[in-house]
Amino acid sequence: MIEKLVESMRDEMIKTMVEMIPIKAISPELGGTGEKERADYLEKVLTGIGFDELKRLDAKDESGYVRPNIIAKIRGTEGKKTLWLAAHIDTVPEGDRSLWKTDPFKAVVEGDKIYGRGTADDGQAVVSSIYAVKALKESGVRPKNNVGLMLLADEEVGSKYGMHYVLDNYEFGKNDEFIVPDAGDSKGDVIEIAEKGLLWICLKVIGKQGHGSRPDLSLNANRIGMKLALSIDERLHFKFSSTNSIFVPPYSTFEPTKREPNVQNINTIPGTDVFCFDCRILPSYKVDDVFSEIKDEAEHYKKKFGVDVELNLVQKSEPAPETDPNSEVVLKLKKAIKELRGFEPMLIGIGGGTVAAPLRRKGYNAAVWFTTDNVEHAPNEYCKISNMVEDAKVFAKVISEY
Ligand SMILES: [Zn+2]
Repeated sequence: MIEKLVESMRDEMIKTMVEMIPIKAISPELGGTGEKERADYLEKVLTGIGFDELKRLDAKDESGYVRPNIIAKIRGTEGKKTLWLAAHIDTVPEGDRSLWKTDPFKAVVEGDKIYGRGTADDGQAVVSSIYAVKALKESGVRPKNNVGLMLLADEEVGSKYGMHYVLDNYEFGKNDEFIVPDAGDSKGDVIEIAEKGLLWICLKVIGKQGHGSRPDLSLNANRIGMKLALSIDERLHFKFSSTNSIFVPPYSTFEPTKREPNVQNINTIPGTDVFCFDCRILPSYKVDDVFSEIKDEAEHYKKKFGVDVELNLVQKSEPAPETDPNSEVVLKLKKAIKELRGFEPMLIGIGGGTVAAPLRRKGYNAAVWFTTDNVEHAPNEYCKISNMVEDAKVFAKVISEY
């Protein structure tokens, strides 16, 4: 049984995680130097497995850093299509270091947990995917179709040098399917087959700075910014109010999030105010229509208060089509979860963005699944060893029967 083989690799999986986490893999946009060293390490781990194809698709980014992607493949007996396990190797930075109880760049094993930045996101998936394929190789089973492993760069900053680069530079079969282990819940009972569209936008309100005692001579951008943020908030919720029960939560979300610091002292009236919205939009709407509403409200404020308002569109992606709930990848994944865990997983849509979206836009079926306590990007991020091992069993079962 392939699950037994996975179980026998438990210590090896822990070792790989513990060795991988100290090798930082943060993108230059977030203050790092890319993922090259981590990819070099993982390539060594993969070399012993015996893939029929093992190659690197290295991109070079604007700052000159190598952004590595690893592609590995085992051919099936018929090999008409490939089921890919696609995990990402980059991580976000540690954030506020004082909130960590352990060194974020050491993998610290404590009972069933391994603490460290990137252990859950997406280290657990990297390790469980690798060992699922390794177990398949060692079992001697050659499935009907091919099995692929993709270890990707640049997921945390939009995948330009990761999934998008691979899609542009690697020829996938037109019926290939994908498992993306990068979102889930603590039981592993949800398979994500749809994602909301995304709009990240910042607005800069420009008024006139002045002394705190002379509002008559200034134009308080802070006050107008607050009013504008609330108007946009209300307007978007009113205008885009439809629901779709497959999604969690079942409606579009429009959240005022980041606010930039303004003046250093209490007795200065701020001349500028910058605030941002994180919008997650149901597929029944167009992201551009949300943008237009925001722009319209900003125009209205310009006229009403005499301020200037600049819009900065930080990130935008239209919702991708849903993955077919009856596709082979979804059905096989459901079956393996049912057999190994004893429950039927639910098919859902989420607001977060994974690399499944660009795949779906190209017409591929992609199922997002893994088991996680959702501690991604948080201080004291951890992965449970049991999740890492049990997920590998599910993957191994799916790929061996594909
Ligand atoms: Zn991730």
